[in-house]
Amino acid sequence: MRVKDLPPIFAKCRSEEDSRYSISKSWIDASGQYVCSTDGRIVVRMPVPPDGIEGDLGTKPPPIDGLGWDGPFEDLAAPIPELTEDSREVCYCCHGMGQHNCGAECQECDGMGYYVTRGATVVGNVTLGNEYIRKIVAANASIFVRKDGKDNKPVRFVGPDFEGLLMPRTA
Ligand SMILES: [Zn+2]
Ligand SMILES: [Zn+2]
Repeated sequence: MRVKDLPPIFAKCRSEEDSRYSISKSWIDASGQYVCSTDGRIVVRMPVPPDGIEGDLGTKPPPIDGLGWDGPFEDLAAPIPELTEDSREVCYCCHGMGQHNCGAECQECDGMGYYVTRGATVVGNVTLGNEYIRKIVAANASIFVRKDGKDNKPVRFVGPDFEGLLMPRTA
């Protein structure tokens, strides 16, 4: 299998930039068993196919063993409620003008005049970022919240041929 033939959620869960780790690409975990993607808040993985993975893979993979893949998670998928809308807030610095009286672009809002506050929706007992819920739902995956109710530990999602963990918004 080639990297570009991975399920689309693998591209959607990569980071735009590398951190200490090469997370702008998919990578193979330390055990050699899984191909994974992460942006630091969501991680998705699937078993490396028997013919391996060819293509541009990250060479400094982050450690993911200790993330709590075994839960405890609920056995039944959580129903996904209707998502809240993203909202806009007028920039406090330029009062929505996008620039200052001197003509300089406002640095606080990059000249937009507002900020977009990305919506978050309560699923089960935790608040999850809408942008992540949308990625999971678009990939036909289901979300399994934690049995222990901890909101500083990830929930699990499971798709047709992959699984993943997502950190709640509060953590
Ligand atoms: Zn501004
Ligand atoms: Zn400003």
